[in-house]
Amino acid sequence: MKGEWGEHCGIFGVYGHPEAANLTYLGLYALQHRGQESAGIVSSDTQTLHSYRNMGLVSEIFTRDVLKRLPGRSAIGHVRYSTAGSSDLKNAQPFTAHYTRGELAIAHNGNLVNAHILRDELEAHGSLFQSSMDTEIIVHLIALSNENNLAGRAVRALKQVEGAYCLLFLSENEMIAVRDPHGFRPLVLGRQKNAYLVASETCAFDLIGGEFEREIEPGEMVVVNEDGLHSFYPFTPVTPSHCVFEFVYFARPDSFIFGRNVYAVRRELGVQLAREHPADADIVIPTPDSGFSAAIGYGHEATIPIELGLIRNHYVGRTFIEPRQSIRHFGVKIKLNPVKELTKGKSVAVVDDSIVRATTSRKIIKMIRRAGAELIHVRISSPPITHPCFFGIDTPMRSELIASSHSIEEINRYITSDTLGYLSLEGLKRCVGDENGSFCYACFSGGYPIKFPTRMGDSQLRLFEDR
Ligand code: AMP
Repeated sequence: MKGEWGEHCGIFGVYGHPEAANLTYLGLYALQHRGQESAGIVSSDTQTLHSYRNMGLVSEIFTRDVLKRLPGRSAIGHVRYSTAGSSDLKNAQPFTAHYTRGELAIAHNGNLVNAHILRDELEAHGSLFQSSMDTEIIVHLIALSNENNLAGRAVRALKQVEGAYCLLFLSENEMIAVRDPHGFRPLVLGRQKNAYLVASETCAFDLIGGEFEREIEPGEMVVVNEDGLHSFYPFTPVTPSHCVFEFVYFARPDSFIFGRNVYAVRRELGVQLAREHPADADIVIPTPDSGFSAAIGYGHEATIPIELGLIRNHYVGRTFIEPRQSIRHFGVKIKLNPVKELTKGKSVAVVDDSIVRATTSRKIIKMIRRAGAELIHVRISSPPITHPCFFGIDTPMRSELIASSHSIEEINRYITSDTLGYLSLEGLKRCVGDENGSFCYACFSGGYPIKFPTRMGDSQLRLFEDR
């Protein structure tokens, strides 16, 4: 079910600014943590769309010359990360299409759970697909719709898809932002003077001096054109299922999403972790960079000094090639190195945000052990990940998630730590302030908020039935 459908991404859009492509470039730069595989920008000069997409980092792809070729006062952009294997330029976004009503670009953050069914049905009716992205399905559904404006066609298309989506559409003269009724992924609305901004996270606004206005609500569609901004709620409302993993790991700590600042929540997770799993340690060592915020909370609550016992090389790019003939395997050492003077003879509490396959923690623990630590207590600021995500976070198959088939004691033995403590699910819920049950914890509990459709049963495209 995962594979090519799974991807996590960041999106950014601007309407009504003379430097739309430049702002989008900067917005994507701030959202780079949400995807490093490919990036793209599509701009509109009101007559036609201009597009550039490529593999790599935002700063590598968008040179001054490329940005000059993206004129107009509106633009949308996308950064994409996906699992190995589907790494392909044809899957880079924004996706663009020409159809009978003109041109359309679309940028998607999320994951559609009925994509395979819709695609089979569209192909059976003659649609030709250019990519393996679920996003392209939405384009085909829009092209097939009879509604007389883009917003209507998008609503009609989206009523048929299930899953997680934050979407940006750009036509010659309009930008539309939509967040799915569950509100899995974050999406925020901002202003820069007279221009409207939309982004996955508020950190994108901060970089360009934009003002954060509000979050786009679950199930909301925002249409921006020469008449200004109009908001609609075209879908049947459901209880929201915000992705709690955005708070745990994915979003940037300086962002404000789901009504909270990410750093404040992450720090609180560390405080709660210290209450649930104290450690008799001399120092707290954060795992760079994802463990920093929780380690600060942990050390503060436990009154144990926080020390940078692991140093990260920030310049390791995807281009690094480990020499085949080398006498040693670099492994995690190319990225992280312990500060021996700090760890020697000490009892240490190593704090990280999550364990997925446990390969990282195993390597880190061995490294710290070799650097002379006597006792190593691992503390994880989220519960054990037992189930894959089907709503836009890249996680491996269930069998590869160590906690799906091993007890905490077995994981402790595998990673070679002396003690291991995970934050409880109740503790996590308390820290995110989930009084109304409006978060998705499926990766920790298996309680998926959407039932997965099978190829049988009610899978018929309503679009075709109506015709
Ligand atoms: P692992 O070696 O698979 O246990 O990797 C765990 C580390 O990966 C943790 O330290 C997290 O910071 C990071 N991580 C957690 N979830 C993801 C994800 N979906 N994509 C990339 N990295 C992740």
